[in-house]
Amino acid sequence: MTDLICDPPPDRIILVEDNEDDRFMVEYMITSVSPRYTVDTFELGTQALDSFDVNSASCVIVDYRLETEDGLTLLADFKKYDPFVPVILLTGQGSEELATLSIKSGASDYLVKENLTEIGLRAAIHNAVTQSQLEKKIAIQAREQKVFLEVLVHDLKAPLLNIQRLSGVALEDEADGKFDDLRMHLNLQSNIAGRANELIDTLEKYTCLDGEFEFESVSLSYIVQSTQENLGKVILDSHAQLIFDDLPSVTGNAPLLIQMLQNLVHNSLRYNESDIPVVEITSSTTDADSIVLTVSDNGIGIPEDDVKRIFNPFKRLWAYSQYKGSGLGLATCSKIVQLHDGNIWCTSQEGKGSQFHVRLPVPKLAH
Ligand code: ADP
Repeated sequence: MTDLICDPPPDRIILVEDNEDDRFMVEYMITSVSPRYTVDTFELGTQALDSFDVNSASCVIVDYRLETEDGLTLLADFKKYDPFVPVILLTGQGSEELATLSIKSGASDYLVKENLTEIGLRAAIHNAVTQSQLEKKIAIQAREQKVFLEVLVHDLKAPLLNIQRLSGVALEDEADGKFDDLRMHLNLQSNIAGRANELIDTLEKYTCLDGEFEFESVSLSYIVQSTQENLGKVILDSHAQLIFDDLPSVTGNAPLLIQMLQNLVHNSLRYNESDIPVVEITSSTTDADSIVLTVSDNGIGIPEDDVKRIFNPFKRLWAYSQYKGSGLGLATCSKIVQLHDGNIWCTSQEGKGSQFHVRLPVPKLAH
């Protein structure tokens, strides 16, 4: 029988030490501590940096007083490659001043060679690695929160513009005594405001709970109709046609799916120079577990080399003066699709139009 439980790969430690005896001693202490560690030793900082560039390490240990270079400069060089790599400084003699300077310069720890013990070294490496992993996680979370707050601003503009426009229309209805129209426009406003509110709740959940959403059976026809309402003004202003048939249900979160489709349709209208922009939304069945929703447009298209990169946050193909945007729309779509365990990809022909395909899971049939 095959043993499916594998040991994790050993943690690579880079040791930069130009004194042969010290190098041997520290390497011996680390490897005798645990087979978990492999140590690559270097006499010169430049060699260690080149090696780190090719294959990063869990922890770097640097002699403070190297013959050819200063340990603090080398520490800063490692941090340029990876700001989160933990660096431990080793020194011949300790001093309070040096210890403070090392920590202020970004060292995870500062160890005096003559006091070094295997247990002390193990604790220092373990603490340095754990702390740097935590710092990295916090930094990633902070960046994601920032990105999603920017998305909130980006994606709330369309419904707010619509509400503003509908307020004007409602006032005219009232002045003209068209009370049925007034009621209809107020209802529409209330629907759009409600969904915008849901979107805020959803994004708030996203940033706070790291993606814990409720998933249920959602009709894609409802998602398309809501998108059409949210983008009512843009569709009207651009004289666009939005074509769609009856669409199936998927397992998903409605506010997130509306946000995703709104981004795709809005892009199809914005990156479009046709007299009549046409956006078609279709679905096809690929297997028993999923469907593919496709948004096709007759817009400006996307060069082949860029069809993958446009999903990266802030990736834009045009100057802001040519086409306005923040470069977050497709990154958000990608994130939403990931949360649904789906995929998103694009096919396009420059000058002829683009198709955005989204694979989404379908509700499981009850047996
Ligand atoms: P934004 O539109 O705010 O710039 P997105 O992430 O939505 O950001 O899109 C990234 C880039 O992909 C856009 O700047 C644009 O160059 C390109 N793009 C997206 N959708 C389309 C489309 N339907 N047709 C042509 N280009 C598109």
